[in-house]
Amino acid sequence: MPIFEYRCEDCGEMLEALVRGADAEPVLCQVCGGKLARLVSVPADLKRLGGFFHKEKFSDAEIASKGLTKYVNRGDGTYEKAAGSGPSIIDRDKLPG
Ligand SMILES: [Zn+2]
Repeated sequence: MPIFEYRCEDCGEMLEALVRGADAEPVLCQVCGGKLARLVSVPADLKRLGGFFHKEKFSDAEIASKGLTKYVNRGDGTYEKAAGSGPSIIDRDKLPG
C-alpha cells in the first residue's frame, strides 16, 4: 500500500497517510480543517533509505546539495537515482531489512 504525504495549504501542517484506495485519502487538515494537497508518493522503504522525491520544488542540483537523494520510479519496481549520493538503482524487492 502506498504512503502519501500531504501538506495543509492553510497552515502548512504535514502528515503522512497510508492510502488503501482513492476514496480513503484524507482531504482535510486535522489541525485547522484546511485543504490538504498531496505532495509526493514515496514508498516507505525508499524513505527509510533516505530517498527523497519532489517533482516541483527542488532541482536535482539543489537536492544533491542538501545531502538528499532523488529516485525516479521506473515503473517496474525499481528506482533509478537522479540526484545525490546513494545506490544508483534500488530494487523494491531487494531492500535491506
Ligand atoms: Zn491546516
